[in-house]
Amino acid sequence: MPVTRERVDPIHTPDDLGLVHRRWILPDDAQRTVALPQLARLWRGLLDLGVLDTNQEVTLERMLLPAGEVSAQDLPAVASAGALLAGSGAASLVTQVVWTNEEGRRDPYAEAGESDPEGFRDYTLYAVDGGARLFLPLVPSRICCGGCGAWTLLEVTGFGEGALLDLARACPECGAALDLSRDKGELRTGARFLLEELVCCAALSIELLLEPAQEELPDAAVSDLLRACFGSYDELADDGVPAAT
Ligand SMILES: [Zn+2]
Repeated sequence: MPVTRERVDPIHTPDDLGLVHRRWILPDDAQRTVALPQLARLWRGLLDLGVLDTNQEVTLERMLLPAGEVSAQDLPAVASAGALLAGSGAASLVTQVVWTNEEGRRDPYAEAGESDPEGFRDYTLYAVDGGARLFLPLVPSRICCGGCGAWTLLEVTGFGEGALLDLARACPECGAALDLSRDKGELRTGARFLLEELVCCAALSIELLLEPAQEELPDAAVSDLLRACFGSYDELADDGVPAAT
């Protein structure tokens, strides 16, 4: 049974928030490996820049792979970057909710000092180690086999707000091995993409009340930090989704 994240902020519940906007930031090449120490540096960098709050706890969730139970624990923020390093052979996420009006908080979507939109930011960094699974921020419901052309339902293991794709999956129709560069996934919106455009080994999600005006992160220091970890990256918008619980 997945463990539900508990939030300390009384206002931050799906009942209060309804639908929110989520921005996924991920390496633009699915084959690029992002090592756990790089992800730890990214998370520490977000703390150092004041994007995250060093004085508040961070929730860590971890699933040992192949898919098993999810464990969750709250950690002091200063310990959370190091905890990512212990995620060998596992799917891990670290998450913290902050507010744009907090003293000293840096909002990567602020322009000329104005946050866009005001309100909460839910930052979650995902890491999937080991090479047998990849992370799907946007989860396709069906997969099209590049070999035989059959569309089949995709069964995935949910993790956080995304899911884990088992790279050992074979086409149920013809038995062909999964091929990220040839197989396609169909999202709930009906949009279709090559799987290599949908998967990653690491991703940062930023959840906001509303979609920011900017399609790309306007904060140069935060985008430099992301580029140092991920290399070139993509930003995927997922609008009108239920808030993380
Ligand atoms: Zn097939």
